[in-house]
Amino acid sequence: MFDTPHRRFNPLTGESVLVSPHRAKRPWLGQVEKTPPENLPSYDPTCYLCPRNERAGGLKNLDYKSTFVFDNDFSALLPDQTPEHASDHPLLASVSERGLCRVVCFSPRHDLTLPELDNAAIENVIATWTEQTVDLSSKDFIHYVQVFENKGAIMGCSNPHPHSQIWATEHIPVEPAKELERQKAYFNKNGRILLFDYLAEEHKRKERILFSNNHFTALVPYWAVWPFETIIIAHGSVTRLNELTSAEVSALADILKRVTTRYDNLFEVSFPYSMGFHQAPFDDQSHPEWTLHAHFYPPLLRSATVRKFMVGYEMLAMPQRDITPESAAERLRSLSDTHYKHESH
Ligand SMILES: [Zn+2]
Ligand SMILES: [Zn+2]
Repeated sequence: MFDTPHRRFNPLTGESVLVSPHRAKRPWLGQVEKTPPENLPSYDPTCYLCPRNERAGGLKNLDYKSTFVFDNDFSALLPDQTPEHASDHPLLASVSERGLCRVVCFSPRHDLTLPELDNAAIENVIATWTEQTVDLSSKDFIHYVQVFENKGAIMGCSNPHPHSQIWATEHIPVEPAKELERQKAYFNKNGRILLFDYLAEEHKRKERILFSNNHFTALVPYWAVWPFETIIIAHGSVTRLNELTSAEVSALADILKRVTTRYDNLFEVSFPYSMGFHQAPFDDQSHPEWTLHAHFYPPLLRSATVRKFMVGYEMLAMPQRDITPESAAERLRSLSDTHYKHESH
């Protein structure tokens, strides 16, 4: 049934993607265009994220040994804006937005990305995301905490020192707001949790699952837009990072390491992506409809240099893909859990 053009519906956002598998039928010969590995130093004296170095504005980084958090020096949001920007014209609608932007360095090492850290270090990164989520959401004007990583120059990330960001806002941002509405509607209609039911169906079919452990599953979603897009979904009724037990944190570290390792192994390159967690809003309500999950949106299509662009029909009409999510899942499944840099040649 997946040989001809069709639209796939994304129940989390209510949007659709056009899939054109007949265009990708020519066999893939597996020729990977290799780029020379970037050999970054473990410490770079000119990097504003390395320990002890000076940042813009003159502040000095601590001589940190594990993760390191600071307020973004060029923050897109400000905490104490006055609400004078509100407009009441229905066609010129705006409202002020307060918030905070923080940077989380994964480790003092300039050269170690997520898949190259050991599990304990990744657990430490998750613990830092969690602490920051708790701290930011405790502020009365914060109602959403977005944890994300933008990795690679191709994604516009200006500094290779592995780091993530956390933007916390007064309003629920557009993507989580869509997901909130859709998950709520499903819950109210069926009395069941959307992602819980989706995961059960995927486990039955096994076509798009990459792997699972006791608490999380990684898969290429049925409605994936990006060629090697994945989603990591929590098994239980966890809605936010701060609800994770220590066993669940270990399981999340394990699955993050395996997903990002296979990404690097796919084209034997430090794989660029934007990833982030979608947790329930912090709006003083319980969210039984919500399931904690993470999206990975990587742009690479066929090699270290051939990427997908969202242009033309996609800007004007809807997203489109050629290789099916099933074949993307098959390729990711076939890769090793050992990072290519550590494999003996
Ligand atoms: Zn650095
Ligand atoms: Zn989501």
